[in-house]
Amino acid sequence: MPAKFIGAHMPTSGGLHKAIRRGKEIGCTAVQVFTSSPQTWHAKPITDEMVENLALALEETGIDPSKTVSHDSYLINLCAPVEEKREQSINGLKNELLRCSQLGIPFVVSHMGAHMSQGEDEGLAKVAEAALWILDDTPDDVTILMETTAGQGSSLNYRFEHLAKILELTKSPERLCICLDTCHIFAAGYDIRTKETYEATFAEFDRLIGCDRIKVIHSNDSKKAFGSRVDRHEHLGEGEIGPIAFQCLVKDPRFENTPIVVETPKAEEMHAENVRRLWEWANA
Ligand SMILES: [Zn+2]
Ligand SMILES: [Zn+2]
Repeated sequence: MPAKFIGAHMPTSGGLHKAIRRGKEIGCTAVQVFTSSPQTWHAKPITDEMVENLALALEETGIDPSKTVSHDSYLINLCAPVEEKREQSINGLKNELLRCSQLGIPFVVSHMGAHMSQGEDEGLAKVAEAALWILDDTPDDVTILMETTAGQGSSLNYRFEHLAKILELTKSPERLCICLDTCHIFAAGYDIRTKETYEATFAEFDRLIGCDRIKVIHSNDSKKAFGSRVDRHEHLGEGEIGPIAFQCLVKDPRFENTPIVVETPKAEEMHAENVRRLWEWANA
């Protein structure tokens, strides 16, 4: 069966409930949001009114709450070399999980960390340690999704081995899973441009981690070349990846029930079109 949960990262101006309603208008059956500004540490507290408005929007649109996703703040670095920054990051991600538990959002996508010249092994060990602290201290109904990155700067998790290492060090908790971003893995050097390379890349992921740990997919084409390790999203089928990867993705039975979310530029004009393309490929 083709993908059933296709959507976009929706702007939240006017409230989280607005993101759900706008998402429905452009054909989303899954929606990703920021629950607060991703560029600041300060997050407005969740009020009962916000929780109620969101629940009502989900009910009225028929969007399944289990297909809603939050993306954490870009400031979070769980292996920051300055202890104060690391603590702030750990608390920041903890708070995001608490906020999502209140809101009924089951997944928080996180970039986890950048080692900043400490070296990858040290960075991965610190991220794993922090992830365990955060999971220990937060409700069971929210799962952290470690995002595959493009490997810009000293970002970790641009190799599947990095994610496998964190899972090994944490003993693979149920609440530590993966968000795979097509643009990021491609920029990091995993080819998905043809049916054969798509299958080979996912076979490699399956061997190292297990495709069943992928709980959300970010479906973005790439402005930058294969292996460039630069993260710039492009509209689906118009970038360096091209349409075949996305056609494979929405027909992949492993991801039939996985939220597949677009994070492409020009949300206002273009999200509707990118979501439409995914549905068209899914139903082709
Ligand atoms: Zn992403
Ligand atoms: Zn990106």
